[in-house]
Amino acid sequence: MPAPAPSSGTRATRRGAVRRPARCLAAGLLLLAVAGCGASGSPPARGPQPGRLPHYAVDRDFSLPTSPTWRSAHRDGKLTIGVKEDQPGMGEKNPATGAYSGFDIEIARMTAASLGFDPDRQITYRAIASANRETALQNGQIDYYVGTYTINEGRKKLVGFAGPYYIAGQRLLVRRDEKQLTGPDEMAGRKVCSAVGSTPLQRIQADYPGADAVAYDSYAICVDNLLNHQVDAVTTDDTILLGYAAKDPAHLKVVGRAFSEEPYGIGVPRQDRALARALDRALVARERNGDWKRAYDVTLGLSGRPAPRPPRVDPALTR
Ligand code: GLU
Repeated sequence: MPAPAPSSGTRATRRGAVRRPARCLAAGLLLLAVAGCGASGSPPARGPQPGRLPHYAVDRDFSLPTSPTWRSAHRDGKLTIGVKEDQPGMGEKNPATGAYSGFDIEIARMTAASLGFDPDRQITYRAIASANRETALQNGQIDYYVGTYTINEGRKKLVGFAGPYYIAGQRLLVRRDEKQLTGPDEMAGRKVCSAVGSTPLQRIQADYPGADAVAYDSYAICVDNLLNHQVDAVTTDDTILLGYAAKDPAHLKVVGRAFSEEPYGIGVPRQDRALARALDRALVARERNGDWKRAYDVTLGLSGRPAPRPPRVDPALTR
């Protein structure tokens, strides 16, 4: 089950200490522009290049009167989609332009187009941290959520899911000069950082009690703390960690095997099955027509891993 949603700011749950974000102070962190530092304002050099993104055909005749979420978005002429803003390659906001990029953003854009919304003009993105996703869906802050969101039993009691659209796995990010911490079996006695309300944090607390778990609101803060030698590793999905490592290969590396399966779903308001089913149909259509692969190739695929086969959408999720 997700941890109760912290409202804002940054917190370390270990020993209850509270720290301010030190994002822009991180020594040597990201010579490239990233979350809030924005010195150069240029787009991430290794990240998705705006000019190369796929164009998604908008289904202008689409209508879903059985979905309350779709009806109200249609009335407003825009979809509000919850995303991450500090996960390079998945969901990242360019601090200079305000533009969002990454594989999750492309999933948001292609599904919005299938629901009849112009992805360039009719999406408002709202950055929501891991711990706050369920609340945001429950109180109508967002229409749906696309942000490295693992489908699991606890969350299914609180929200609905479409998908899965990708399967990630939990791994470890360490400093480049790290010699001892080479995988999940060497975490004992080491400080391992993850995000409040995330499945990777729950897993190290439950299955690796020897590890000294540290939690902050976002992985970006964990990475700052790793570079500042406040923690020894960051743990979460490989998708996220490879994005950070690709941005700062001189200081960071991803190590060890994947030690979980994280099927990514699109989070929807729990009662809105019609929306979840429409999103499933959109995912299947976009996988069939090649949009899913095109989106992967210009985002996550930049890390060098060829596009895997997309997982099968699970009809049991929307029954
Ligand atoms: N996929 C994991 C989760 O949903 C970790 C990534 C995240 O926190 O968004 O908890």
